[in-house]
Amino acid sequence: MDPEETYLLPLSRKVKIGRISIGGSQPLVIQSMANTQTSDIEASVSQFKRVIDAGAQMLRYSTPGLRDVEALKKIAARVKKSHPEIPLVADVHFQSTVANRAATFCEKVRINPGNFAGSEKDLLEFNQESYEAGLNSARNKLLELIEICKEHECALRIGVNHGSLSSRIMSRYGDTPEGMVESALEYVRICHEAGFHNLVLSLKSSNTRLMVKAVRLLCKIMLLEDLYYPLHLGVTEAGNQLEGRIRSVCGMAPLLMEGMGDTIRVSLTEPPEDEIPVARMIGELFPKPETLPYDRFKVSSIDPFGFSKVSVREVLEVGRGAPVVIGDKGTVYMPAPDIYASRTERGYIFEKQGHSYNVFSLKNEHLPAPSGEGSEAAAFLIDTSEDPARIAQIEKDRLWILDCNAAQPLLVKKWVLNYYDAGGKNPLILKKTFHESNKEKYVLRASGELSLLLIDQMVSGIWIENDDFTSEFNTWLSFQLLQSTRNRFTSTEYIACPSCGRTLFDIQNVLERVKESTAHLTGLTIAVMGCIVNGPGEMADADYGYIGSGKGQVSIYKGKKEVLKKIPEKKAVEALIQIIREHGDWKDP
Ligand code: SF4
Repeated sequence: MDPEETYLLPLSRKVKIGRISIGGSQPLVIQSMANTQTSDIEASVSQFKRVIDAGAQMLRYSTPGLRDVEALKKIAARVKKSHPEIPLVADVHFQSTVANRAATFCEKVRINPGNFAGSEKDLLEFNQESYEAGLNSARNKLLELIEICKEHECALRIGVNHGSLSSRIMSRYGDTPEGMVESALEYVRICHEAGFHNLVLSLKSSNTRLMVKAVRLLCKIMLLEDLYYPLHLGVTEAGNQLEGRIRSVCGMAPLLMEGMGDTIRVSLTEPPEDEIPVARMIGELFPKPETLPYDRFKVSSIDPFGFSKVSVREVLEVGRGAPVVIGDKGTVYMPAPDIYASRTERGYIFEKQGHSYNVFSLKNEHLPAPSGEGSEAAAFLIDTSEDPARIAQIEKDRLWILDCNAAQPLLVKKWVLNYYDAGGKNPLILKKTFHESNKEKYVLRASGELSLLLIDQMVSGIWIENDDFTSEFNTWLSFQLLQSTRNRFTSTEYIACPSCGRTLFDIQNVLERVKESTAHLTGLTIAVMGCIVNGPGEMADADYGYIGSGKGQVSIYKGKKEVLKKIPEKKAVEALIQIIREHGDWKDP
């Protein structure tokens, strides 16, 4: 890699959505989704005002049936008087006739290729003939919708979700990034051939790594096929509070920083107006670059599309297992940092399970390494001004602590890519000091910057400092970051949908109650989903699920199996705990 080389990023096609545009050189568009019953016009109109006042530039409504579409038309008549510039989007699943009707007055319709051609879902196995028949059925329905979109200047979002791929796509690709990409591209090609280009695409998942890999693959193929449509980014079922924000930014920032993404929606299990400041801050912190210092799609020692981890040797018990967390000595937080650091006149001392060793400056490499009873292994603090190829060629066992404060995140990633490409085999720990007193901004900035490398499993540890926050908080953030980028799981993982018009219970409250009861069940993934229509598919790999199944009713899932049907909502949290007990996954707090 030429150190001075830069890569010009292509612009996506500019697409008109009512009075605004997405893609091309347009700034990032911030959007959200209403969680009212669309048929409740008063509630929907007042929520529109709150979300738009918070700064949203586009709002989507759940339209499960024709009744909801007609309600959306009435909402549009009300809100367009004061806000004609805000596009309204109908979110359609299962019924193409609903999409057809919505396209006559909405500025955009979101369809899900996983369920747009309803008949596909009835088959479990496909041969060539039935595969093509399924695709043809989708084509016919899509062509009908395209004609209406053309006539009414309505845009389409082809919105693929990892958890709801069609059984036809699953039969050929499984629930892989390739499956997600093909699911979108089939529809894109049909639109393209029909001369319809008012398209926005999304590939969403609650699994941040999978989502990043899928979007990269989609971009690469679109560039090869000269079909570069704008991208809507979002991490599904991210949950709430700081955890939900961290997971969202860990999925979006690596893409935004590498020039992928034209509009974003942060899906939180909170009122939709709360999503907007988060989305705006993400947009401000991670603006789209015009060039990159490396080729984002080049497969080298790091595969931007693959899931394998770069191989390094173990040095001072770092490098082989999951990435470690370094925290200040004296941090009282569980899980505790793997390595405690304390500052000395000459640098730092690291302490791990009673053993301590110095962290040297590379300039003092002639110093005898004092660690490991005669072993020459030692830890050294380096920064990005070092030549990564020279560092890579040092064959002694070295734990490199890469101080990345002096370089932009993209240049840090370039440094690390160059290090591995030059044959670096010693583990790297990323050290970053933040000076940010606003908690949410700190969390978003740190998560976004570090996730650029963590999402590709490029480092063997992280060390985050910020004197404005306690070392406990910095340690908590470090573990959350490793979990959100799927490097290491140290707390219960929650998948919770943001809710929409299909949700018939207070999901925000329920999620809090479920968290209170199960936060100690490290290693489990628990889903809280608003509806039985999309919830079971979207909760993907969760171990247990709490899913709304009607007014005042909940179903409990163990994996993909419904084990308790339609139990009263009042008893549902207890029932979930009981099911976890029965399957041997419960432990007392
Ligand atoms: S799972 Fe159901 S309730 Fe939740 S956002 Fe998706 S469609 Fe809406």
